[in-house]
Amino acid sequence: MKPIINREMCIGCGMCENICPEVFKLNDGKSEVINLPDYTVFKEKIEQAKDSCPVQAIDIEE
Ligand code: SF4
Repeated sequence: MKPIINREMCIGCGMCENICPEVFKLNDGKSEVINLPDYTVFKEKIEQAKDSCPVQAIDIEE
């Protein structure tokens, strides 16, 4: 699994970074996915971030 952010949709609210700072990081007012070899250890927090994003800008690639 790998999270993907639609940067055009992201409004930079910081919610995803608050929920899972190991994976999401704001950069220039938009969120980015930090490159990691394996995201599965953060699976639950990534799903929570996806569900909490106010503009549904986070997708999860299986
Ligand atoms: S929760 Fe959504 S809108 Fe907010 S910073 Fe993350 S991706 Fe952007």
